[in-house]
Amino acid sequence: MKIPFLDLKSQYLSIKDDVNPAIQNVLDNTAYVLGPAVKNFEDEFASKHQTKHCVAVSSGTDANHLVLWALDLGPGDEVIIPANTFIATAWGATLCGATPVFVDCEKDSYNIDPQAVEKAITPRTKAIVAVHLYGQPADMDPLIRIGKKHNIPVVEDAAQAHNAEYKGKKIGGLGLATSFSFYPGKNLGAYGEGGAVLTNDDTIANKAKSMRDHGALEKYNHEIYGHNYRMEGIQGAVLGVKLKHLDSWTDNRRRVANLYNSELSQIKQIKIPREMDYAKHVYHLYVVRVEEGKRDQLRDYLAEKDIATGLHYPIPLHLQKCFSSLGYKQGDFPVSEKLASTGLSLPIYPELTDEMVLYVCNAIKSFYL
Ligand SMILES: *Cc1c(COP(=O)(O)O)cnc(C)c1O
Repeated sequence: MKIPFLDLKSQYLSIKDDVNPAIQNVLDNTAYVLGPAVKNFEDEFASKHQTKHCVAVSSGTDANHLVLWALDLGPGDEVIIPANTFIATAWGATLCGATPVFVDCEKDSYNIDPQAVEKAITPRTKAIVAVHLYGQPADMDPLIRIGKKHNIPVVEDAAQAHNAEYKGKKIGGLGLATSFSFYPGKNLGAYGEGGAVLTNDDTIANKAKSMRDHGALEKYNHEIYGHNYRMEGIQGAVLGVKLKHLDSWTDNRRRVANLYNSELSQIKQIKIPREMDYAKHVYHLYVVRVEEGKRDQLRDYLAEKDIATGLHYPIPLHLQKCFSSLGYKQGDFPVSEKLASTGLSLPIYPELTDEMVLYVCNAIKSFYL
C-alpha cells in the first residue's frame, strides 16, 4: 500500500462539483482580486471562529507581517517567538525590522512556554507570538496574563490550527489578532496562496484592511504605509466552498489521530502527541517522538514500505543560519532541540482511511517488535 504524506487530489475530487462552478463564477464576473467571493469568505471565516473581523490576505506569512505591522512594530522592537515553529512566524517580526527573541517550548504541548516568555521580556518587548503548533492551541491564559502585566500584546500564529479550540472556545479572538494560512496543505487550503487576519479589535482590523491594499481604504488616498497583500477572488471562492467541509475534515483528522494514539501507545519506544486538557487539537500534523538516534532508521524503513513521513522542523529557528547574528547557540533551548532531533511526522489528512492508518502502525510495530 502506498501512503503519501498528503493527498490533495482525492479531496479535490470529493468537492469538484461544487468548487469548479465557484471558480467559474469568478471567471465570469471577473472579480479576480478581493471582490464578493473574498468578502463572503471573510464573513464566514470570522463567524466560524467567533471573531468580529476577518481580513483576507495573500498568504500566512503576509498575515504574520500584517499583524505586527498594524501594531507599529519597527527597528529596535523585540518580538518573543517560540524556537520551534516554521520560519514564517519569525518573518512577521523581521519584515517589520524588529528583532525576533526566541524562547523554548513546553515538553508536553510543544508550544511556547509561558514561563520562558516572562523571562525573555525586556523594555523593548513589543509583542508575544503564540503559535498553535501542529494544530494544538498554545496555553493562552497564562500568556495573556503575562502580556497584561507587562502591557505587551499577545498575537497568534494559527497557520496550522483552523477550527481548533482553547477551553471550549474557538481560537482566533483570544489574543489581540490571529494570523491564518491557506497554503494548499493546511487544514483549510486554497488552490494557491492565501492567508487571513482575525481580530475583535476594530482599530487593528481597519488598519490591516488598509495596509493590505496600499494603505488606502479609498482608492489613491494613502493615509498610511501599506503593501499589496490582497487575496485573489478565486482563492476566496475555493475557500468559501471548502469552509463548509472544515468540521467534517477536522473530525476525520481527529479520527486518524485517535487511531494512531491507540495503536502506537503500545510501543514504548514511541512518544505519542499529548492533547492538553485545555485544547481541542485539530492535528494539522501528527508528530511522534522516537528514541534519539533512531529516527532516520525508522524513516528509511517506512519509506521502503511506501510510507511517506516528514520532519517539522529539523532545525529550530535559533540555530538557523539566517539568524546567526542574533548569537544563539546549541543548548539554548533543549526542548525545541530535542523535538527537532527526535520528532517524526506521520501522514495525517481527512481522507486517510482506517486501513491506511493501521498499515502505518503495523509497519512501525514491525520495526520495533
Ligand atoms: C504555513 C505556516 C506559515 C506560513 O503560511 P504561508 O501561507 O505558507 O505563507 C506561518 N506559520 C506557520 C506556523 C505555518 O505552519
